[in-house]
Amino acid sequence: NVENLSDLEKLEVLGHGNGGTVYKVCHKKTSTIYALKVLRFDHYATGILQQAAREAEILKLVDSPYVIRCHGVFDNGFMSSTSDHNDGGGDLCFVMEYMEGGSLLDVLRARQRLPEHVISSVAKHVLQGLHYLHAMQIVHRDIKPSNLLINGRGHVKIADFGVSHVVAGAREACDAYMGTYAYMSPERFDPERWGGDNANGFAGDVWSLGLVALQCHMGRFPLITPEQKPDWATLMCVICFGEGVEMPETASPEFRSFIWRCVEKDWRKRATVDELLDHPFVNKTCCPSTEDLVDYV
Ligand code: ADP
Ligand code: MG
Repeated sequence: NVENLSDLEKLEVLGHGNGGTVYKVCHKKTSTIYALKVLRFDHYATGILQQAAREAEILKLVDSPYVIRCHGVFDNGFMSSTSDHNDGGGDLCFVMEYMEGGSLLDVLRARQRLPEHVISSVAKHVLQGLHYLHAMQIVHRDIKPSNLLINGRGHVKIADFGVSHVVAGAREACDAYMGTYAYMSPERFDPERWGGDNANGFAGDVWSLGLVALQCHMGRFPLITPEQKPDWATLMCVICFGEGVEMPETASPEFRSFIWRCVEKDWRKRATVDELLDHPFVNKTCCPSTEDLVDYV
């Protein structure tokens, strides 16, 4: 584990997200490369900070080949290398496993679509990650392409749970951020209509995975057409009142069946992670390997 933030040297910015910046860093003593995520909590209430710090502790316990490892959490005072003054902002920093293949969003931006056998192995890895998290009573709540990261061997792992939803939750209150809503299940969007009060939340992660898998096939976010404005109202209409997901003719029967089981609007009828792990789509005899993804990053 990384003991001090001062042991890390910033190399480059890997990306910006909803609430923070991710840097590629080098642990000077061991020459190990990590990803460092810095969340700025300047404008948040103390309660949110405390909740985030509590959830951060949970991250350190997570140890699965299908979930990004966290090698340390630090609060406060990680100042940029060029500045030696403390600006008083509360930062929360996560030292994470570095995923050199970037995110599934990067892959989709470059390739638009993926063939079914690759989608199958992506789905299988994500299901295994969700199986692990759900067994720890962790609901991810933000499964989307940018939170599925790929390492140098083409292995997909889940990133950003726990703390991220604290941050996202605080943001939801202030502005309608598309990324937060797009993959959200009907029962989270509109609990009254869709019985979300009784939902344990796990089913919401399955819904999101279904949309991600379909997006990999269609080459665009599946619920709205390019002509529609991707705002909160449109998504609310489509997710809660729409006909449901339109399945492309090009998808194989197993793939369609898999997607249907994920994007069932009534969360009680939706498949569970364990049921999906037994689904033919992720258990084909001509067993797909994630090594395939290496060719796509
Ligand atoms: P978002 O998920 O909303 O895109 P994040 O702050 O989680 O925002 O991440 C921003 C980007 O940084 C990601 O989309 C990804 O490209 C990159 N990134 C995040 N974590 C890692 C990591 N562990 N290794 C490599 N790249 C990462
Ligand atoms: Mg993320």
